Amino acid sequence: MQNPRLNWTNVLFVLSAHLVAAFAVYYLVAIRFSWWTCGFGLVWGILCGLSITGGYHRLFSHAAYRASKPLRAFTLGFGSAAVQNSALAWSADHRAHHARTDTDGDPYDIRKGFWWAHIGWVLYHSPDEKDLALVRDLSADPLVLFQHRWYVPLAVVFGVALPGLFGLLWGDPIGTILVAGWLRLVVQWHATFSINSLTHSFGRKTFDRESSAFDSWWIALVTFGEGYHNFHHRFPIDYRNAVRWYQFDPTKWWIWTMARLGLASNLRCVPAERIEAARRASRVPDESMALTSS
Ligand SMILES: [Zn+2]
Ligand SMILES: [Zn+2]
Repeated sequence: MQNPRLNWTNVLFVLSAHLVAAFAVYYLVAIRFSWWTCGFGLVWGILCGLSITGGYHRLFSHAAYRASKPLRAFTLGFGSAAVQNSALAWSADHRAHHARTDTDGDPYDIRKGFWWAHIGWVLYHSPDEKDLALVRDLSADPLVLFQHRWYVPLAVVFGVALPGLFGLLWGDPIGTILVAGWLRLVVQWHATFSINSLTHSFGRKTFDRESSAFDSWWIALVTFGEGYHNFHHRFPIDYRNAVRWYQFDPTKWWIWTMARLGLASNLRCVPAERIEAARRASRVPDESMALTSS
Protein backbone atom coordinates (compact mmCIF):
# COMPACT_ATOMS: atom_id res chain seq x y z
CA MET A 1 0.00 0.00 0.00
CA GLN A 2 1.37 3.44 -0.92
CA ASN A 3 2.24 5.91 1.85
CA PRO A 4 -0.60 8.39 2.42
CA ARG A 5 0.09 12.07 1.60
CA LEU A 6 -0.65 14.84 4.10
CA ASN A 7 -3.74 16.89 3.31
CA TRP A 8 -2.27 20.34 4.02
CA THR A 9 -5.65 22.12 3.90
CA ASN A 10 -6.93 19.89 6.69
CA VAL A 11 -3.65 20.00 8.64
CA LEU A 12 -3.55 23.81 8.65
CA PHE A 13 -7.25 24.17 9.44
CA VAL A 14 -7.15 21.66 12.31
CA LEU A 15 -4.00 23.29 13.71
CA SER A 16 -5.44 26.82 13.44
CA ALA A 17 -8.72 25.76 15.04
CA HIS A 18 -6.85 24.34 18.04
CA LEU A 19 -4.87 27.59 18.43
CA VAL A 20 -8.04 29.72 18.25
CA ALA A 21 -9.77 27.38 20.73
CA ALA A 22 -6.83 27.79 23.13
CA PHE A 23 -7.14 31.56 22.71
CA ALA A 24 -10.89 31.26 23.49
CA VAL A 25 -9.99 29.75 26.88
CA TYR A 26 -7.48 32.58 27.48
CA TYR A 27 -10.16 35.12 26.47
CA LEU A 28 -12.59 33.72 29.05
CA VAL A 29 -10.00 33.55 31.81
CA ALA A 30 -7.99 36.72 31.25
CA ILE A 31 -9.93 39.11 29.00
CA ARG A 32 -13.65 38.79 29.45
CA PHE A 33 -15.85 36.19 31.13
CA SER A 34 -19.60 36.11 30.41
CA TRP A 35 -22.11 33.54 31.66
CA TRP A 36 -24.24 34.40 28.62
CA THR A 37 -21.37 33.51 26.29
CA CYS A 38 -20.65 30.25 28.13
CA GLY A 39 -24.34 29.28 28.30
CA PHE A 40 -24.83 30.02 24.62
CA GLY A 41 -21.71 28.01 23.78
CA LEU A 42 -23.16 25.05 25.68
CA VAL A 43 -26.55 25.29 23.92
CA TRP A 44 -24.86 25.66 20.50
CA GLY A 45 -22.68 22.66 21.33
CA ILE A 46 -25.74 20.55 22.16
CA LEU A 47 -27.53 21.56 18.93
CA CYS A 48 -24.45 20.91 16.78
CA GLY A 49 -23.71 17.68 18.68
CA LEU A 50 -27.21 16.24 18.26
CA SER A 51 -27.08 17.16 14.56
CA ILE A 52 -24.07 14.88 14.14
CA THR A 53 -25.18 12.02 16.39
CA GLY A 54 -28.91 12.14 15.63
CA GLY A 55 -28.60 13.55 12.09
CA TYR A 56 -25.40 12.65 10.25
CA HIS A 57 -25.04 9.37 12.12
CA ARG A 58 -28.35 7.73 13.07
CA LEU A 59 -30.53 9.38 10.39
CA PHE A 60 -28.39 9.81 7.27
CA SER A 61 -25.77 7.07 7.71
CA HIS A 62 -28.05 4.39 9.16
CA ALA A 63 -31.65 5.37 8.27
CA ALA A 64 -32.61 4.39 11.83
CA TYR A 65 -35.70 6.62 11.54
CA ARG A 66 -37.38 8.99 9.11
CA ALA A 67 -37.18 12.73 9.63
CA SER A 68 -39.46 15.51 8.40
CA LYS A 69 -38.08 18.25 6.13
CA PRO A 70 -37.70 20.82 8.97
CA LEU A 71 -35.77 18.33 11.11
CA ARG A 72 -33.53 17.34 8.19
CA ALA A 73 -32.87 21.02 7.41
CA PHE A 74 -32.07 21.67 11.09
CA THR A 75 -29.57 18.81 11.34
CA LEU A 76 -27.94 19.69 8.00
CA GLY A 77 -27.52 23.33 9.06
CA PHE A 78 -26.14 22.73 12.53
CA GLY A 79 -24.26 19.65 11.29
CA SER A 80 -22.32 21.94 8.89
CA ALA A 81 -21.04 23.90 11.92
CA ALA A 82 -19.35 20.72 13.17
CA VAL A 83 -16.97 20.97 10.16
CA GLN A 84 -16.88 17.21 9.62
CA ASN A 85 -17.68 17.35 5.91
CA SER A 86 -21.13 17.24 4.28
CA ALA A 87 -23.66 14.68 5.49
CA LEU A 88 -23.27 12.87 2.15
CA ALA A 89 -19.47 12.53 2.43
CA TRP A 90 -19.61 11.80 6.19
CA SER A 91 -22.15 9.02 5.59
CA ALA A 92 -20.06 7.52 2.77
CA ASP A 93 -17.08 7.26 5.17
CA HIS A 94 -19.25 5.95 7.98
CA ARG A 95 -21.02 3.31 5.90
CA ALA A 96 -17.58 2.16 4.69
CA HIS A 97 -16.51 1.97 8.36
CA HIS A 98 -19.44 -0.34 9.18
CA ALA A 99 -19.26 -2.42 6.00
CA ARG A 100 -15.47 -2.91 6.19
CA THR A 101 -14.68 -2.62 9.91
CA ASP A 102 -11.11 -3.64 10.76
CA THR A 103 -10.04 -3.97 7.13
CA ASP A 104 -8.09 -1.71 4.73
CA GLY A 105 -11.42 -0.40 3.41
CA ASP A 106 -12.30 1.12 6.82
CA PRO A 107 -11.44 4.88 6.64
CA TYR A 108 -10.69 5.00 10.37
CA ASP A 109 -9.31 1.50 10.75
CA ILE A 110 -8.26 1.02 14.41
CA ARG A 111 -5.61 -1.53 13.33
CA LYS A 112 -3.58 1.42 12.00
CA GLY A 113 -3.32 2.74 15.55
CA PHE A 114 -5.20 4.87 18.06
CA TRP A 115 -4.13 8.26 16.62
CA TRP A 116 -4.85 7.24 13.05
CA ALA A 117 -8.40 6.26 14.06
CA HIS A 118 -8.78 9.44 16.15
CA ILE A 119 -7.53 12.20 13.86
CA GLY A 120 -4.73 10.87 11.62
CA TRP A 121 -7.18 9.79 8.92
CA VAL A 122 -8.47 13.39 8.71
CA LEU A 123 -4.97 14.79 8.16
CA TYR A 124 -4.07 12.59 5.19
CA HIS A 125 -5.51 12.21 1.73
CA SER A 126 -7.57 9.08 1.54
CA PRO A 127 -5.78 6.49 -0.63
CA ASP A 128 -9.19 5.68 -2.16
CA GLU A 129 -11.85 7.96 -3.54
CA LYS A 130 -14.93 8.25 -1.36
CA ASP A 131 -17.32 5.46 -2.28
CA LEU A 132 -20.40 7.53 -3.10
CA ALA A 133 -22.10 4.38 -4.37
CA LEU A 134 -22.67 3.64 -0.68
CA VAL A 135 -24.90 6.72 -0.31
CA ARG A 136 -26.98 6.62 -3.49
CA ASP A 137 -30.18 6.69 -1.44
CA LEU A 138 -29.14 9.98 0.20
CA SER A 139 -28.46 11.58 -3.19
CA ALA A 140 -32.19 11.46 -3.82
CA ASP A 141 -32.77 14.02 -1.04
CA PRO A 142 -32.53 17.61 -2.42
CA LEU A 143 -31.75 18.95 1.07
CA VAL A 144 -28.76 16.60 1.39
CA LEU A 145 -27.52 17.62 -2.06
CA PHE A 146 -27.97 21.31 -1.24
CA GLN A 147 -25.91 20.93 1.94
CA HIS A 148 -23.25 18.92 0.06
CA ARG A 149 -22.91 21.74 -2.49
CA TRP A 150 -23.02 24.67 -0.04
CA TYR A 151 -21.31 22.96 2.90
CA VAL A 152 -18.53 25.55 3.41
CA PRO A 153 -20.77 28.67 3.36
CA LEU A 154 -23.24 26.86 5.66
CA ALA A 155 -20.37 26.01 8.04
CA VAL A 156 -19.43 29.70 8.16
CA VAL A 157 -23.05 30.79 8.75
CA PHE A 158 -23.81 28.25 11.52
CA GLY A 159 -20.31 28.07 12.95
CA VAL A 160 -19.33 31.76 13.00
CA ALA A 161 -21.92 34.26 11.70
CA LEU A 162 -24.93 33.18 13.77
CA PRO A 163 -22.97 32.90 17.06
CA GLY A 164 -21.56 36.39 16.37
CA LEU A 165 -25.04 37.82 15.77
CA PHE A 166 -26.41 36.25 18.96
CA GLY A 167 -23.37 37.56 20.86
CA LEU A 168 -24.37 41.10 19.88
CA LEU A 169 -27.42 40.68 22.14
CA TRP A 170 -25.22 40.67 25.26
CA GLY A 171 -22.41 42.77 23.82
CA ASP A 172 -19.82 40.01 23.41
CA PRO A 173 -19.82 38.96 19.72
CA ILE A 174 -16.08 38.22 19.66
CA GLY A 175 -16.25 36.06 22.79
CA THR A 176 -19.32 34.22 21.46
CA ILE A 177 -17.62 33.47 18.13
CA LEU A 178 -14.54 32.23 20.03
CA VAL A 179 -16.48 30.06 22.49
CA ALA A 180 -19.57 28.86 20.55
CA GLY A 181 -17.69 28.82 17.25
CA TRP A 182 -14.12 27.67 17.76
CA LEU A 183 -13.86 26.19 21.27
CA ARG A 184 -17.11 24.29 20.71
CA LEU A 185 -15.82 23.08 17.32
CA VAL A 186 -12.60 21.61 18.75
CA VAL A 187 -14.37 19.99 21.72
CA GLN A 188 -16.97 18.51 19.34
CA TRP A 189 -14.29 17.20 17.00
CA HIS A 190 -12.58 15.27 19.77
CA ALA A 191 -15.90 13.95 21.07
CA THR A 192 -16.78 12.62 17.60
CA PHE A 193 -13.25 11.34 16.96
CA SER A 194 -13.28 9.49 20.30
CA ILE A 195 -15.97 7.18 18.88
CA ASN A 196 -13.49 5.99 16.27
CA SER A 197 -10.52 5.79 18.66
CA LEU A 198 -11.60 5.26 22.31
CA THR A 199 -14.67 3.09 21.67
CA HIS A 200 -12.58 0.90 19.37
CA SER A 201 -9.98 0.54 22.17
CA PHE A 202 -11.62 0.44 25.64
CA GLY A 203 -14.78 -0.96 27.21
CA ARG A 204 -16.90 -4.11 27.11
CA LYS A 205 -17.90 -6.31 24.22
CA THR A 206 -21.46 -6.79 25.41
CA PHE A 207 -23.13 -7.88 22.19
CA ASP A 208 -20.44 -8.84 19.68
CA ARG A 209 -17.07 -10.36 20.56
CA GLU A 210 -15.78 -10.34 16.97
CA SER A 211 -15.95 -6.57 16.37
CA SER A 212 -13.25 -4.16 17.56
CA ALA A 213 -16.01 -1.89 18.94
CA PHE A 214 -16.62 -1.63 22.70
CA ASP A 215 -19.44 -0.35 24.91
CA SER A 216 -18.24 2.44 27.17
CA TRP A 217 -20.56 4.38 29.51
CA TRP A 218 -18.02 7.14 30.16
CA ILE A 219 -17.51 7.86 26.47
CA ALA A 220 -21.31 7.96 26.12
CA LEU A 221 -21.29 10.88 28.58
CA VAL A 222 -19.32 13.12 26.20
CA THR A 223 -20.79 11.83 22.92
CA PHE A 224 -24.53 12.13 23.53
CA GLY A 225 -24.87 8.37 23.99
CA GLU A 226 -22.67 7.12 21.16
CA GLY A 227 -20.31 5.32 23.56
CA TYR A 228 -22.41 2.15 23.41
CA HIS A 229 -20.56 1.32 20.23
CA ASN A 230 -20.43 -2.48 20.52
CA PHE A 231 -24.24 -2.54 20.54
CA HIS A 232 -24.25 -0.08 17.65
CA HIS A 233 -21.91 -2.19 15.50
CA ARG A 234 -24.03 -5.26 16.20
CA PHE A 235 -27.36 -3.48 15.50
CA PRO A 236 -26.56 -0.35 13.44
CA ILE A 237 -30.12 0.21 12.20
CA ASP A 238 -31.48 0.63 15.75
CA TYR A 239 -32.21 4.30 16.57
CA ARG A 240 -30.87 3.63 20.07
CA ASN A 241 -27.23 3.08 20.96
CA ALA A 242 -28.07 2.36 24.60
CA VAL A 243 -30.98 0.01 25.24
CA ARG A 244 -31.33 0.32 29.04
CA TRP A 245 -33.41 3.10 30.51
CA TYR A 246 -30.59 4.09 32.89
CA GLN A 247 -27.90 4.31 30.21
CA PHE A 248 -27.06 7.82 29.00
CA ASP A 249 -28.25 8.21 25.42
CA PRO A 250 -29.65 11.73 24.95
CA THR A 251 -29.58 11.25 21.15
CA LYS A 252 -32.16 8.47 21.60
CA TRP A 253 -34.27 10.72 23.84
CA TRP A 254 -33.97 13.56 21.31
CA ILE A 255 -35.17 11.34 18.43
CA TRP A 256 -38.01 9.97 20.60
CA THR A 257 -39.05 13.53 21.48
CA MET A 258 -38.94 14.57 17.80
CA ALA A 259 -41.25 11.62 17.05
CA ARG A 260 -43.67 12.79 19.78
CA LEU A 261 -43.67 16.24 18.17
CA GLY A 262 -44.49 14.71 14.78
CA LEU A 263 -41.09 15.61 13.28
CA ALA A 264 -39.72 12.03 13.15
CA SER A 265 -41.28 8.65 12.44
CA ASN A 266 -40.53 4.97 11.77
CA LEU A 267 -38.09 4.68 14.70
CA ARG A 268 -36.43 1.30 14.16
CA CYS A 269 -35.85 -0.99 17.16
CA VAL A 270 -34.29 -4.44 17.06
CA PRO A 271 -36.58 -6.93 18.88
CA ALA A 272 -35.58 -7.52 22.51
CA GLU A 273 -35.21 -11.28 21.91
CA ARG A 274 -32.54 -10.71 19.25
CA ILE A 275 -30.67 -8.31 21.52
CA GLU A 276 -30.84 -10.81 24.38
CA ALA A 277 -29.63 -13.62 22.10
CA ALA A 278 -26.64 -11.50 21.00
CA ARG A 279 -25.84 -10.67 24.62
CA ARG A 280 -25.91 -14.36 25.57
CA ALA A 281 -23.79 -15.30 22.56
CA SER A 282 -21.18 -12.77 23.60
CA ARG A 283 -20.94 -14.75 26.88
CA VAL A 284 -20.79 -11.81 29.27
CA PRO A 285 -21.46 -13.33 32.71
CA ASP A 286 -23.65 -10.55 34.08
CA GLU A 287 -27.20 -11.67 34.74
CA SER A 288 -28.19 -8.20 35.89
CA MET A 289 -27.92 -7.18 32.24
CA ALA A 290 -30.61 -9.67 31.20
CA LEU A 291 -33.41 -8.08 29.23
CA THR A 292 -36.97 -8.93 30.15
CA SER A 293 -38.67 -9.88 26.94
CA SER A 294 -42.35 -10.64 27.06
ZN1 LIG B 1 -17.10 2.03 14.92
ZN1 LIG C 1 -22.62 3.99 12.91
